[in-house]
Amino acid sequence: MKRIIVAVDGPAGTGKSSVSRQAALEMGLRYIDSGAVYRSITWYVLQRDKKMNGEFRFTNDIAELTIEQEFLRDGCCKTFVNKIEVSDFIRDETITKNIGILSDNRDVRDFVNRLLRRWSREGSVIMDGRDIASVVFPHADVKIYLDASIETRTQRRMKEYREMGKNVDENVVKKEIIQRDEQDRNRPFGALIRSDDAVYVDTSLLSREEAVERMKEIIQRTVSPIDSGLCRMRPYGQRYP
Ligand code: C5P
Repeated sequence: MKRIIVAVDGPAGTGKSSVSRQAALEMGLRYIDSGAVYRSITWYVLQRDKKMNGEFRFTNDIAELTIEQEFLRDGCCKTFVNKIEVSDFIRDETITKNIGILSDNRDVRDFVNRLLRRWSREGSVIMDGRDIASVVFPHADVKIYLDASIETRTQRRMKEYREMGKNVDENVVKKEIIQRDEQDRNRPFGALIRSDDAVYVDTSLLSREEAVERMKEIIQRTVSPIDSGLCRMRPYGQRYP
């Protein structure tokens, strides 16, 4: 049975996660959030050492971590670390502030990449991240690069913060996004790059629904309907280690 891999990369705040989740849901594919895996490891490390002080060492207990992800029928993606649900915890600002130290680490990246490749063996997936088309799946069937202007991305983050009941300064949010872009584009391995063979989509002027339609169109155009019909996933709600 042919499985299909859709790799979606792009900087923070371009709508990668929400657009990929919705497209996956509508097309009967599984969504995998690679950023949540990096966030989960950061959460685990911070649990043990509250002040990382810019330092991190890859240890055996990290190599043996059980990380699971579940994609639900309502489009929700849940992440578990050693059976504890961390989906909300990993969205905390302290995670975002410290994540760069871990995602720059070669051992962490190798560990995450092995996990992502193992998960994808289960069937067809849409996976989003920074290096999915370049490193994790250089031979992905479909490659999409989502982008948006810095202004749009700042406004989207502001809206998310407001929805969480947080009052955050717009300039601070913008500065954080620029800093994260810098980090994501300049890390020694697994840096965010736009692959030559990726379809470029600027979502600045698109609504979420329009971006979802665009993503589905790109996938349908690249993958024959017979293949995409054949590669339906395990039923929703099943976890996979
Ligand atoms: O996608 P999200 O914003 O949750 O990603 C959080 C962070 O995880 C990124 O800023 C980056 O440091 C790291 N990441 C990565 N490679 C990926 C996905 C995420 O380095 N494929």
